[in-house]
Amino acid sequence: MNEPTLPDRHAASQPSRRAVLRASSLVLLLGAQQIARGATIVAVRVWPAPEYSRVTIESDGALVAKQFFVTSPPRLAVDIEGIDLSPELRELVAKVKPDDPNIAGIRVGQNAPGVVRLVVDLKQPAMPQVFTLPPVAAYRHRLVFDLYPAAPVDPLEALIAERLRDASGPAATPAPSPAPATARAAEHDPLGDLIAQRANGPAQSGTTAQPPVVAAAPAPSAAPAAPSRPGNRPTATETDRIIIVALDPGHGGEDPGAIGPSGTREKDVVLRVAHLLRDRINATTVGGNPMRAYLTRDGDYFVPLGTRVQKARRVQADLFVSIHADAFTTPEARGASVFALSQGGASSTAARWLANKENQADLVGGINVQSKDQHVQRALLDMSTTAQINDSLKLGTVLLGEIGNVGKLHKPRVEQAGFAVLKAPDIPSVLVETAFISNPEEEKRLRSSAYQEQLADALMRGITRYFAKNPPLARSRSV
Ligand SMILES: [Zn+2]
Repeated sequence: MNEPTLPDRHAASQPSRRAVLRASSLVLLLGAQQIARGATIVAVRVWPAPEYSRVTIESDGALVAKQFFVTSPPRLAVDIEGIDLSPELRELVAKVKPDDPNIAGIRVGQNAPGVVRLVVDLKQPAMPQVFTLPPVAAYRHRLVFDLYPAAPVDPLEALIAERLRDASGPAATPAPSPAPATARAAEHDPLGDLIAQRANGPAQSGTTAQPPVVAAAPAPSAAPAAPSRPGNRPTATETDRIIIVALDPGHGGEDPGAIGPSGTREKDVVLRVAHLLRDRINATTVGGNPMRAYLTRDGDYFVPLGTRVQKARRVQADLFVSIHADAFTTPEARGASVFALSQGGASSTAARWLANKENQADLVGGINVQSKDQHVQRALLDMSTTAQINDSLKLGTVLLGEIGNVGKLHKPRVEQAGFAVLKAPDIPSVLVETAFISNPEEEKRLRSSAYQEQLADALMRGITRYFAKNPPLARSRSV
């Protein structure tokens, strides 16, 4: 391909020059509208995250794009046909944040009449996916570039890095990347040991529904760990005392989730509650076993439903708690509910309706349906088990009981339906609808930090009570 012929990305950063460019492109836009050619850009968005950074171009008609990837220095060039350079497209340049983990900058230019070239300069080698999405929900046509780092972020490494960061004190600056293996070896961190052991276990093999590595270990006790036998790897008894709870804040990025009458977005409040619950989990022990929270989404970006489940399985989470806020067409609906997976039909029409709605997240959030990963994930996750559902119902029941102490309940018992995000065959998994964000009063509560804290406290009490009755090592996960 030809070298992208665009001005250096720093060239437009002087205010006076930018103002001039804006003024002139505004004139260009007016001209473009008058001759009504091709599609009009409606909005542009950038969603940075360590896992992948996304660029979205939304337009009133489908865009046709040709992409070129150049490896050195790494950059993605995309020629979009049938449009002219507009102020909306130029906004992309300023929307890239300096701390974007993947994108160094974006350049735009009119490459030929009716062809706009975008060049995304990357900070590291990447595996770009360029795809289009048809109109859905509030969105028109979308052209999406997902920029995955060539060395993908491993959830295990991320968990270890976070643990090491916490161990080095709250004042420490965040590590820019997962800690190297040498740092882990030096620490003798039980979580590191646990994860190292688990990483070598069956979870990595890509098969489904493996029994845990730990099954033969005796029941946990509060007694201090026996010293390691010389020359041996830590035993299951020593390492399995860390309990990992996967927290799954719903939606994110392109998918705002439900939006309350005052504009509160589900994706924001559920992330907040997840952060509060994470703090509590990380400060809690059960029967002498430290707990550790793992977030499937720790920022404002979209994670596909199947990926959420895969991430929880990768860290061999002991529990999976998906956090949402409900919405209905009338403002009166109120109260929290808790859901588990069902193998057959849904437990009620309302539950089926809600599961369908939540399962649409991939359409709104936007996934590349051509990607082979998505097919593999879906096939792997079509193996629900009776044992998982029974444990999930137990977990859901204690959570519902605790939430009932701080707020109203929508339904007095755990409901069941085919939620895609609850399909880890070997992890008890529930979806909590914390309240109705569509109810003005409950929206107000969801926004208040006092209620967010109460919710996190209630969920923490429920998780603790669940483990008190169902210790992780005694639990059967192999059916
Ligand atoms: Zn939701």
